[in-house]
Amino acid sequence: MSKHTSLRVGGPAEALALPESRAELREVLELCRKHEVPVRILGAGFNTLVPDAGLRAAVVRLHGLRKLARSDDGRVLAEAGASHSRVTRFCAKEGLAGLEFAVGIPGTVGGWLAMNAGIREREMRDVVECIEFLDPATGKCQEMRAEQLRFRYRALEVPADVVLLKACFHTEPSDPEEVRERMRSFLAERRETQPIDQLSCGSVFKNPPGDYAGRLIDAAGLKGSGVGGAEISTVHANFIINRGGATATDVLQLMDQARAKVLQRFQIELEPEVRVWGEEL
Ligand SMILES: Cc1cc2nc3c(=O)[nH]c(=O)nc-3n(C[C@H](O)[C@H](O)[C@H](O)COP(=O)(O)OP(=O)(O)OC[C@H]3O[C@@H](n4cnc5c(N)ncnc54)[C@H](O)[C@@H]3O)c2cc1C
Repeated sequence: MSKHTSLRVGGPAEALALPESRAELREVLELCRKHEVPVRILGAGFNTLVPDAGLRAAVVRLHGLRKLARSDDGRVLAEAGASHSRVTRFCAKEGLAGLEFAVGIPGTVGGWLAMNAGIREREMRDVVECIEFLDPATGKCQEMRAEQLRFRYRALEVPADVVLLKACFHTEPSDPEEVRERMRSFLAERRETQPIDQLSCGSVFKNPPGDYAGRLIDAAGLKGSGVGGAEISTVHANFIINRGGATATDVLQLMDQARAKVLQRFQIELEPEVRVWGEEL
């Protein structure tokens, strides 16, 4: 899985499926059900950590389901496998405002939804009008409107085996150059505050209420500290980077150290934002 996750760590999965259509996706899910193989849906792996021992599961990547369109009334319809860069470029080209904040949040539409991805001021819940998902229990596709969805901080509450298929985003017509300019400014801010050129999974921990995980880890004196090839970024203390040759165990140990130190110093328990796979299966 080190080939399929942005931290470039993690052992093998039992199988990898790359369906190109809903019919193929259904076939894969049915096959896994028949053989009692657990399934994990992966977007682009920008927020997923797989242990070195690997996974007793089949991983299904949806990047073959990546259609992107605008509706007549200006909404953006995006399949789960569409990448963040395609969606934001599309919005800029079409002059559709609303998703500029997501320009530097790497991943796919499925990952954006599952993580309720966002920044301080705005997140997916503010722009999603409806989603379509596949319920593997029934094999049926269903739609849910925004008011029925339970987004939380960096999560969308849906049963673990639900496959998110598509999102409809609310956007407003705007001048393409203005959309582009706002995107440039979001990207420029990121470049200054995050180690975007290094291998990472973004924020490792969720911000605790009223504080920032990065501030706490920094104040605990951990910037630049490391285990094996994993290091707490000197640019942003809530990022763990793979400076070369890191293992998932290095990353997990460094996460444990950061949690323990922050708990000891500030009596605050940090909760992982990165999805650690494997342990729960
Ligand atoms: C440099 C950098 C900066 C980042 N900045 C931000 C930021 O500002 N804000 C932010 O919120 N995040 C940020 N992240 C984290 C990451 O970009 C987001 O969490 C993004 O939404 C992950 O998308 P993905 O497709 O890669 O998800 P993955 O890592 O592939 O998956 C994440 C979770 O979503 C589930 N999932 C994915 N697709 C589906 C689907 N179709 N159906 C059901 N479940 C699915 C997976 O099972 C997994 O549990 C950053 C990451 C990096 C590396």
